[in-house]
Amino acid sequence: MDIICTDKEKSLFDKIAAAAAAMEVPCYLIGGFVRDKIIGRPTKDVDVVCMGDGIELAHKVADAFTPRPVVAFFKTFGTAQIKIGDLEVEFVGARKESYTHNSRKPEVSAGTIEDDQNRRDFTINALAISLNKEDFGKLQDPFNGLADIENKIIKTPLAPAQTFSDDPLRMMRAIRFATQLNYHITPETFQAIIDNAGRIKIVSQERITDELNKIMCSAKPSRGWDLLSKSGLLKIIFPQMMELHGAEYIDGRGHKDNFYHTLQVLDNLAEKTTDLWLRWAALLHDIAKPATKKYEEGHGWTFHGHEVVGARMVPKIFTKLKLPLNEKMKLVQKLVLLHLRPISLTKENITDSAVRRLLFDAGEDLESLMMLCEADITSKNKHKVQRYLQNFELVREKLQAVEETDRIRNWQPPITGEMIMATFGLTPGRTVGIIKDAIREAILDGVIPNDYEAARRFMMEKAAELNLTAVE
Ligand code: ATP
Ligand code: MG
Repeated sequence: MDIICTDKEKSLFDKIAAAAAAMEVPCYLIGGFVRDKIIGRPTKDVDVVCMGDGIELAHKVADAFTPRPVVAFFKTFGTAQIKIGDLEVEFVGARKESYTHNSRKPEVSAGTIEDDQNRRDFTINALAISLNKEDFGKLQDPFNGLADIENKIIKTPLAPAQTFSDDPLRMMRAIRFATQLNYHITPETFQAIIDNAGRIKIVSQERITDELNKIMCSAKPSRGWDLLSKSGLLKIIFPQMMELHGAEYIDGRGHKDNFYHTLQVLDNLAEKTTDLWLRWAALLHDIAKPATKKYEEGHGWTFHGHEVVGARMVPKIFTKLKLPLNEKMKLVQKLVLLHLRPISLTKENITDSAVRRLLFDAGEDLESLMMLCEADITSKNKHKVQRYLQNFELVREKLQAVEETDRIRNWQPPITGEMIMATFGLTPGRTVGIIKDAIREAILDGVIPNDYEAARRFMMEKAAELNLTAVE
């Protein structure tokens, strides 16, 4: 098989071949590495399988390099890894697997290359290239994986129902590969996912979420979410997302289908940024629409407060999905909360104070917020889209003009909580917050100018209202 390899890869394969020959064990490149090389996709993970002890082979290969790389090995799985420059090489002994019903951890015994290919999840992942002297470089393709790569097809090597029931993570992987590679899952294989969707419950949340993130990082993440929905997996792993489906009608008035709207927003955003967390913000921006939906006589469908309720849902969803509960979650939450604000600035007669407030609230995430809002335009009417985009252009101009004069974006009010406590002999608590907020609001509203003297005077007035006296 002719695949394009770097000199470094070729020299690595020669060393692996020599080590395997010395051990007298047959050895092959396999799996994701072979697949990606054939497709011509960049890959740094080299998967190697040998008909013997994979850990021993890894040690022998490591011996052939100076300095000798560290061999990380996992005795229970019979796997070992070494790092050669930016390549991560994974060794495994060929194995035969049998599964019990309640676990995705198989009973494993030594096997032939065919046994090992049988246990692989998809035909495109079961291709092997020989590193053996007699047929070095020959492709072993018992399941026509090569043709499936050409035809962009995802299907399992053996009966799909068994393959998915044995290890239900493979259902997520099927949808992830279909999304990443823009391939089609065959109807038989997809039907087996539908039939086995309930088995996803035995897979750990971390593994499921790894796949979700890979879907999210794809060029068109909507494909994955749509397949998850159609397979019945989404209902189990992320039911809130399923609730976005459908448009309800009363008196002939409907609203748009929020599921497909959300996916369109996600794809629009994905065209502009590869940032995973901005993509999560797009996915979650309308998540509270079902919870806040109302039909108001004479007015139609409303989703009042969905941005506030949605922002409150973000930490719960991140916790459930085991996404990190750190500043990235806070960013997603902030964008969900603020996603309607730039739209409100498209109206005429917007005051400088409204603009200042958005600058202050969005801070350094203003550009991300604007990007989300522009992605949120999903009208099919090109003229409308054009008009909305122009409106946002005006909002950008207003924001820029106010920022240039007032410098609000990374601004902190001139009086801090510490200053307030020191002035009135207070300990941290509600009163300090009240005064601090009042000063900030007065500056943002343009009631007082943005300087220390004015803020101090205002603080003294506010304190007097609260019957506080200065201690210094
Ligand atoms: P990626 O590296 O993009 O996640 P990959 O296919 O290389 O995709 P790995 O987890 O690196 O996935 O696994 C390497 C190979 O091991 C796969 O190509 C496949 O042959 C096999 N494999 C991985 N996970 C499974 C699984 N759950 N069931 C069966 N075979 C699997
Ligand atoms: Mg891989």
